[in-house]
Amino acid sequence: MPEAEGHSQAFQADVAKLLHLMVHSVYSDRDVFLRELLSNAADACEKLRYEALADPALAPDSFAIRIALDKNAQSLAIEDNGIGMSHQDLTDHLGTIARSGTRAFLDRLGTASGDAVEGEDRREKLDLIGQFGIGFYSAFMVADRVDVFTRRAGSHEAFHWSSDGKGTFSIEPFVEDEAPVRGTRVVLHLNETSKDYLETGQIERIVREHSSALTVPIELVEEKGGESRKISDGAALWTKPKAAITEHDYKEFYQTLGGMFDDPALTMHWHVEGRQEYTVLAFVPGSQPFDLFDPARPGRAKLYVRHVLITDDAEVLPRWLRFVRLVVDSADLPLNVSRETIQQSPVFTAIKKAVTNRVLQELVKLAESDKDKFAKVWEHFGAVLKEGLYEDPERRDALFGMARFATSTSPEGGRGLKDYVAGLQTNQTAIYYLLGEDLSRLSASPQLEGFRARGIEVLLLPDPVDAFWVATAVGFDGKPFKSVTQGAADIKTIPLKEQPDAAAAEPLAAAGLATLYALMKQVLGESVEDVRASDRLSTSPACLVASDSGPDRRLERMLAASGRLGPASKPVLEINPGHPLIRALATKIGAPDKEKFEDIIWLLFDEARVMEGEKPADAFAARLTRVLLDAVGHSAA
Ligand code: ADP
Ligand code: MG
Repeated sequence: MPEAEGHSQAFQADVAKLLHLMVHSVYSDRDVFLRELLSNAADACEKLRYEALADPALAPDSFAIRIALDKNAQSLAIEDNGIGMSHQDLTDHLGTIARSGTRAFLDRLGTASGDAVEGEDRREKLDLIGQFGIGFYSAFMVADRVDVFTRRAGSHEAFHWSSDGKGTFSIEPFVEDEAPVRGTRVVLHLNETSKDYLETGQIERIVREHSSALTVPIELVEEKGGESRKISDGAALWTKPKAAITEHDYKEFYQTLGGMFDDPALTMHWHVEGRQEYTVLAFVPGSQPFDLFDPARPGRAKLYVRHVLITDDAEVLPRWLRFVRLVVDSADLPLNVSRETIQQSPVFTAIKKAVTNRVLQELVKLAESDKDKFAKVWEHFGAVLKEGLYEDPERRDALFGMARFATSTSPEGGRGLKDYVAGLQTNQTAIYYLLGEDLSRLSASPQLEGFRARGIEVLLLPDPVDAFWVATAVGFDGKPFKSVTQGAADIKTIPLKEQPDAAAAEPLAAAGLATLYALMKQVLGESVEDVRASDRLSTSPACLVASDSGPDRRLERMLAASGRLGPASKPVLEINPGHPLIRALATKIGAPDKEKFEDIIWLLFDEARVMEGEKPADAFAARLTRVLLDAVGHSAA
């Protein structure tokens, strides 16, 4: 790579933009830089610890991170004896943000103008940046220039990387005997407003607040050439007895582990002895990580074997628990084999299963003991947990037990299935649900009218995942799940709460209605499977349902959209025989204005389609205009 040496190179375009944004507007808590650099130094030590399993000569006698202050040079250095970086590493890791999704991330941040942002918006952006973890670059919040001196463990070459953080960086070979034997020294030339970081008290305070997540001891050298003094022991937090750990320690650990700024919603810390021996420290985040639904999102479990980090994306938990951040430290897994082999061992399989069960059990416990706290967890992660309902049949019952829903009677949510079943109406044998795209539209759906009139509660299911689990779930507590839009509603046998008023109840000539349905079917032709009277309507004139044999219309639309099913099958148009519009139409059959009559039938059908979130027919606008013209007394030419 000689062409790169000594020349200044440009950061990847997005990085320069991100740098500007970060340094000038978003990160207000400048202390963060130290936490980021210390965590990089600790990561580097953990990586070398792992490599040294295969080649012990690579590692130092003991790992340590040293913070060195130099008041004359107005600089602060963070030094580690970890893995170090090669020339390639420097270009790859400090020259680009090598994460997928940088672009998408910037888009989410908005126009990235660098202008100061305020209030809620600012808070959101701060959270986002924190999650994205542009760690190293935070150094430029406090430094005009950053020098990195580094040597990859086992290599005889050393390099000097330097940048002012304004868009370019340079890499040069570095005189070997001045370079660290192994590891990295990051030197920050502090800017005018950051000189306070040369004060010992300041550094000690930050380290105290932020070091609980680090597995490497930290030393401080207060003045150039001075003695070093240990200011943090580097004992892994999860190995300490619970009584010795404060809320703050846990929170700090969680924030570093998950790259979050919030408080964990649930902290779980346990140790297992017996057939397997391991320790787990796990957190349910207090808010949704920005990449929760990104299919490429890596797992977030750190797997240690006897305090040696094996990998930070171990698949300990199933996909439907992917929001949980955790550390697993095992005493029994084999250390002398590859990462992959470790994760294929039967011991690991047993640990995975036990950890999954325990996390699930803790969630169930929270659902029972602290409704409000659990409601938050469900609000953020319910859609993910519900994936488990079809991916993990073995744990379905436990998941059903904690699942919370918005329903027609509790649109604000929080209803459990146990409560639902306890409130079944006379003759009600099924758990009814309605699938859809959004909650407010669902709760306004005409499909619910007949159910409301009978006091039947209906689960409102707005998440895409809902269509899948209801299709595979056999039922809950012996009650099958049934879509309100699928087939005949079968709710006639469930008594109405209030008898309809006399006028509406007055039986209309059944013959007139039958003729009307037949006529409608004839007009709508191939667009519908059938036209028939409905039990599920009370205030709307008509609605669409799936035919008795067909799948739920929402599921069908989703499958069709993903190309897994042919075109959607034809719906059944259900008519409310008690509605004044229908009654009026039934008395007008055979009236001279056939075209107007047909327009009205089509518009009824379109209205039902629109209520379902579907598109009306192409001729919709023309028909509506004709009917409106008629309504204002304009007679067609
Ligand atoms: P992250 O730590 O989330 O990967 P950073 O911006 O903090 O992101 O660091 C980018 C990368 O630079 C690291 O992943 C690592 O490969 C490399 N790096 C940073 N600091 C060090 C260090 N002290 N020793 C070795 N590598 C480092
Ligand atoms: Mg980092």
